[in-house]
Amino acid sequence: MIIILLGPPGAGKGTQAKVISRKYNFKHYSTGDALRHEVQYNTELGIKARKYMDEGALVPDSVIAEIVKAHLADNENVLLDGYPRNITQAQDLDIILSSLNRSIEYVFYLETDDEIIIRRLSSRRVCPECGRIYNIISMPSKKVSMCEDDDNVLLQRKDDHEDVIRNRLKVYHNETHPLVAYYNERGILHKVNGEKDIKPLMADISCVLDGGVSNGN
Ligand code: AMP
Repeated sequence: MIIILLGPPGAGKGTQAKVISRKYNFKHYSTGDALRHEVQYNTELGIKARKYMDEGALVPDSVIAEIVKAHLADNENVLLDGYPRNITQAQDLDIILSSLNRSIEYVFYLETDDEIIIRRLSSRRVCPECGRIYNIISMPSKKVSMCEDDDNVLLQRKDDHEDVIRNRLKVYHNETHPLVAYYNERGILHKVNGEKDIKPLMADISCVLDGGVSNGN
């Protein structure tokens, strides 16, 4: 089964992907995490991707299609987080899935207001070692500027600075948001409220996956 989480950066896709994939035994695949891993290890792909990521721009579609294809071929139940990001990628994904004789069952659209995104992302901090995510307003570390798990100093992602966030949102509205209509036309889109806290939002997604209907409020 393939599930897609769609929505602006900072809508909570990563957090929901973690809890949902744990609950339903899905493989969580985030193209953002996969690219950051490549950047961290200075691979050929990482070197190519870095300049786009630092500006909040999209990495070229052909580069992304290769890494996604390999992952889908290796895993049965996958929850895609951050892919597809534009219509070309959605079409690439259709081709990849039809070559594997598989299809997308659910697309969850986490609708979230831009100002909430800017507030959430500019206060996000990440542990460079274990990847644990904090928020200096809503979920601060008990050790202030250090990770509670391993005492590393928490960092702000380069693309979580306000000017880059605004650019990421512009890219989202121009390129990614049209996918809402793309999947809605197929009858597989479920709108949920990305402004809710982690647990009630997860409950809305679970309700759909368990066979119920979420009203998106
Ligand atoms: P994310 O963590 O999903 O917000 O992704 C961080 C950055 O990685 C994005 O701003 C893009 O530069 C790049 N990226 C992640 N996923 C994709 C994708 N599907 N297509 C192109 N670029 C991507």
